[in-house]
Amino acid sequence: MARPWNFSAGPSALPEAVLQQAAAEMLDWHGSGMSVMEMSHRGKQFVQICDEAEQDLRDLLGVSDDYAILFMQGGATAENAIVPMNLIGRRGRAAADYVLTGQWSVKSHKEAAKYGDIHVAATSGSEVELDGQLQKPWTWVPPVETWKVRQDAAYLHFCSNETVGGVEFSDWPTADRLGVSDDVPLVVDASSHFLSRQLDVSRTGMVYAGAQKNAGPAGVTVVVIRRDLIGHALPVCPSAFDYANVAPEHSRFNTPPTYAIYVAGLVFKWIKAQGGVAALEQRNISKAQLLYGYLDRTNFYRNPIHAPVRSRMNVPFVLHDESLNDAFLKGADQAGLTQLKGHKSVGGMRASIYNAVPLEAVQSLVAYMQDFERRHG
Ligand code: PMP
Repeated sequence: MARPWNFSAGPSALPEAVLQQAAAEMLDWHGSGMSVMEMSHRGKQFVQICDEAEQDLRDLLGVSDDYAILFMQGGATAENAIVPMNLIGRRGRAAADYVLTGQWSVKSHKEAAKYGDIHVAATSGSEVELDGQLQKPWTWVPPVETWKVRQDAAYLHFCSNETVGGVEFSDWPTADRLGVSDDVPLVVDASSHFLSRQLDVSRTGMVYAGAQKNAGPAGVTVVVIRRDLIGHALPVCPSAFDYANVAPEHSRFNTPPTYAIYVAGLVFKWIKAQGGVAALEQRNISKAQLLYGYLDRTNFYRNPIHAPVRSRMNVPFVLHDESLNDAFLKGADQAGLTQLKGHKSVGGMRASIYNAVPLEAVQSLVAYMQDFERRHG
């Protein structure tokens, strides 16, 4: 049976080679006589799997040993609470700053407000005219120079790719552009573009990502954190979520999501075999250019995002005649193009074109969109 091209925003497509390897190793991992699911997390086989995953990710990101790599649980949503619980007290006063650019950063902000004094340093939640065009709320990114960051904030949080809105930071701000000292580290929710482009982690204090887009299956959250930021958790922080407990144990303080870490490790090896993040980034650029190029040439479909901050990973688009939405989705499924329905809050369509979605899939999608336009335009 041919598998359809899968455009889900997450959990999303995994590289087929990874799925095949996991299937081949399901009953017997490397002659151990056990499935990875059946192994003790303290046994030598799983320790090897987990340590290799950590090292491969370190290689892919090019991060030094100044940073710890942690495999956490609870998804990025739990991390929204785990971050303030670990970091907000590090400078005495419990205060942190947040930049709001869409649904996910708004959720992070709301969660953090339970733990201290949270200030909105910038928001794109209003209409604005940019390049002679009216941009709706959450379709643009406030320029870094306009962010008002407090000098005594424990950290500055932003979401570098808004999965629902389809807004991506093409670059991460540097401390000098922000006008803050190194005492205000960046904390980045990079869930939906992690490992899709070269990102300079050393510019940040911490990056986190739910794995279920580019890094593996759901169930594991990847955290990359500068070691000097660890060790300031609030007393209320559960011990399994205190980075000071998790880091020295290489994510095995308590039972980690062993199978999810194993599959993520296979994904990291797959990325290495593809030529690393730089090679995938080139493919991702080609895929995004193909889809946005078509969206810009037609009046039948439209992407509402300010062009310089359009996401390479999540491409929302609407049909000018919304009464055709159901016919579009039905025809797409029949053409082997699945999970294209837009997020319920935005409507329309969304094509998530993560690392495991090849150029061929985007070509098929554009061909279908053109054909649909010919028949209904
Ligand atoms: N942040 C971003 C950018 C996301 O895309 C998501 C999930 N789609 C989340 C946070 C929440 O992740 P989870 O469902 O793993 O808690």
